[in-house]
Amino acid sequence: MYYEYLQSHMGIKPHVASFVEQTEAELAPLFAAADSVAALNQLKILNAMQKSRLSDTHFSSSTGYGYHDEGREVLESIFANIFEAEAALVRPQLISGTHALSAALFGNLRPGDMLFSPVGKPYDTLESVIGIRPTSGSLAEYGISYSQTELTENSDPDYDAIIAALADKPKMATIQRSKGYSWRKSFSPNEINSIISCIRNHSPQTIILVDNCYGEFVSTEEPVKADLLAGSLIKNPGGGIAPGGGYVVGKQKYVEAAAERLTAPGLGSAVGPTLGMSRTLIQGLFMAPQTVCAAVKGAILAAAVFEKAGFSVAPAPGDPRSDIVQAIKLGTPENVLAFCRGIQKAAPVDSFVTPEPAPMPGYSHGVVMAGGTFIQGSSIELSADAPMREPYIVYFQGGITDAHSRTGVVFALNELKFR
Ligand SMILES: *Cc1c(COP(=O)(O)O)cnc(C)c1O
Repeated sequence: MYYEYLQSHMGIKPHVASFVEQTEAELAPLFAAADSVAALNQLKILNAMQKSRLSDTHFSSSTGYGYHDEGREVLESIFANIFEAEAALVRPQLISGTHALSAALFGNLRPGDMLFSPVGKPYDTLESVIGIRPTSGSLAEYGISYSQTELTENSDPDYDAIIAALADKPKMATIQRSKGYSWRKSFSPNEINSIISCIRNHSPQTIILVDNCYGEFVSTEEPVKADLLAGSLIKNPGGGIAPGGGYVVGKQKYVEAAAERLTAPGLGSAVGPTLGMSRTLIQGLFMAPQTVCAAVKGAILAAAVFEKAGFSVAPAPGDPRSDIVQAIKLGTPENVLAFCRGIQKAAPVDSFVTPEPAPMPGYSHGVVMAGGTFIQGSSIELSADAPMREPYIVYFQGGITDAHSRTGVVFALNELKFR
């Protein structure tokens, strides 16, 4: 019925519909595995909400300074519980993942300190925060240096190089879980925990931050051995419902240092009104395992469909996943634009516009972004992004219902020249 309707009402070519239908039928075991992950994460979140004695009264609003905002306090205790952390900062005033990471970095680093990445170049927007790309107000301008070690050819951490780099005793290390805009694999929580053990063995003072963006609730574990984790609420942990926000969780003193950067020294986490958002943020978290599961299924389907259609994909359909991102090497700018056109045509919002590459704040290349989302820029909702550079890889992610992420795959294929 679904595939017939696509042809009769939505302009999908018959051979595209049947190709996706056949591919989907082969994926039932992988989808069942994703459902099991979601079921366990649902229980963990439910348990955390019950332990925090979440109640109807927590959904009332605070304004102004937001002193003693009970909704905010309970939301933060739930996050801390889920990530097995001492403290959490979960705020609508954190604009995005970049902002949460930036607060964690600026809050904990001081002039003369060094920041170290053991997993190669960080996400594009972090380049300006760190000052890898000279930027006004970057860590580099405050006298904070940066070093990184590259991944091996198999995109594994290069432990010899990491151990050598740790001789410089970096004040902080940042580990990015997701591949971001690169072709490497995304690291599982276990792999991240191994990197963390190595850092602890060779440089016990180093504060370890994990960029957990796109990774939350994709597996049954989180990289909880880190001192700090940060991410965005318009990705996985907002469940497609949070209208904005970010989080930092981890050791109390490091989370508080991030809070003092977010608000002001002396104010820290004690202020911050939820402005009527606490119910949506909490409910979004409650929905997140199911939402993430829909996105993961869409990513698996995209991998299977585009691999069969002759493109390289990372990860492969059956590979273990640690984030919701599916990279597809499309090879030409035309293919990238066609794919993004398809994603846009499959959107509930702005389905009639054509995505074009444009400069984006924080990114060095033109980026084409498709996503007609209810929340601006939300990438837990069906979306695709591609920096317009060789080898023309598109990054597909999101879809807050199973049927919608699947529809995105169908529409993207329908726009490509494919027989
Ligand atoms: C999305 C993302 C970020 C932060 O981006 P924002 O758009 O600011 O939320 C950082 N790192 C990774 C790996 C990401 O996917």
